[in-house]
Amino acid sequence: MYEQDTIAAIATPVGEGAVAIVRVSGPDAERIATEVFLRDAGKNGRLSSHRLYHGKIQDPGSKKILDEVLLAVMRKPRSYTGEDVVELYCHGGLFVVRRVLELILSRGARHAEPGEFTKRAFLNGRIDLAQAEAILDIIRARTEKGVELAIGQAGGELSQWVHELREELLEILVHVEAAIDFPEEEIELLRQSELIGKIESLRSKIGEIITTYDWGRLLRDGARVCICGRPNVGKSSLLNALLGEERVLVTPIPGTTRDVIEEAVNLDGLPVVLWDTAGIRIAQDQVERLGVELSLAHLEKADAAIVVLDGSNELTDDDLSCLKRTASKKRMVVLNKNDLRRAVDPAELDKALSGTELLHISATSGSGLDELRRSLRKLLLDMEIEPSVVLTNLRHKAALVAGNQALSSAVESLHARCAAEFVAVNLQEAREGLEEIIGEFSNDDILEQVFSKFCLGK
Ligand code: GDP
Repeated sequence: MYEQDTIAAIATPVGEGAVAIVRVSGPDAERIATEVFLRDAGKNGRLSSHRLYHGKIQDPGSKKILDEVLLAVMRKPRSYTGEDVVELYCHGGLFVVRRVLELILSRGARHAEPGEFTKRAFLNGRIDLAQAEAILDIIRARTEKGVELAIGQAGGELSQWVHELREELLEILVHVEAAIDFPEEEIELLRQSELIGKIESLRSKIGEIITTYDWGRLLRDGARVCICGRPNVGKSSLLNALLGEERVLVTPIPGTTRDVIEEAVNLDGLPVVLWDTAGIRIAQDQVERLGVELSLAHLEKADAAIVVLDGSNELTDDDLSCLKRTASKKRMVVLNKNDLRRAVDPAELDKALSGTELLHISATSGSGLDELRRSLRKLLLDMEIEPSVVLTNLRHKAALVAGNQALSSAVESLHARCAAEFVAVNLQEAREGLEEIIGEFSNDDILEQVFSKFCLGK
């Protein structure tokens, strides 16, 4: 169990706004609140839970009024943390809300660490670990699809799946442990093949979910796409055309330089960062070489590439080299400037593409761009049908991969006719993998890893 002291923090972002919220949670929350809260004249008696009260915040020592506020008490267990919670809705000035917080801290609360309210919600069994992580994903989501996935997980979709799988696993474990308790009966031949079948079926279910991770990660974090091609083929024009009205807000990604332009688009719910690179070609001088190196470094990091060719000109060595460099990458090739007379030699183009599909577009007239958006989304997500449970978190994937490895070992042990104890150990490991996701099996490191990502006051 954790030390049940009372914690407080400002729950709203720093800066000026209409309202700022101070959140207090723990056994002294209500005591502190009643000490500093001056209710409207004539109103007294115990505050009811889950009701809003109007009043003022007064320093009981100096009698100074710090702010006019609304206050809500949410008594345990029906609160976010599962403890007594008090929220104070102050005026959203930087100074005023800090003074209110300081007063509360001076009455015996401790300043909360990032994510500590959510951590308490987890420790008190209000939510499991996967749900806690999903709350952070809701806060950070940048597209509708990202929010949708996170809300599903916060509502317990993934947890439910984990619970169901764990039930299946426990059933198998019961059989194996029975064999340990009654060694003279051993694991019979028939039962053994049945067991292997059941374990394999579990493994394939887990394996299926693991494959959704790339999909989920892209929808949650967004994809990175590098637009490449030699200078003047229309890369910047394509970037601008794709931006259109679909700009999404993104936080700047550190490490990008002015030589690579970065913009973000929303491809039907999939956030995509587009990199317009300086141009990949055979460099003439040192400065250009640096630019090309930078472009190549971005190409390497990107989830996919769009290779732009100019249909109104012959292919050049630079075009061919760009096609070569991207050959091993997820990519799409577009033939731009299709509003102009076509000058590219079809036979030469065919040879250079060696089977890669070609999309005809015009960055300036906009023709072919809808098709490009659709194809790019499909190329990135690689999955036509949306899976019912989606992994978005690397921690969950790692736990499932470890769980599946343990199941493989269990199958091997059964094939090798090892003692039932060995099989049981493997199955227990698999069970720990599943339980790690929802936090039923956890340690301080895991919790630290999860909750340190949260902001203050959450
Ligand atoms: P980048 O160097 O590859 O980024 O190429 P730009 O986007 O700067 O384009 C080079 C030139 O091609 C500019 O004059 C553009 O206006 C022109 N351009 C780009 N795309 C098209 C297109 O689809 N049709 C026509 N006619 N011109 C285009």
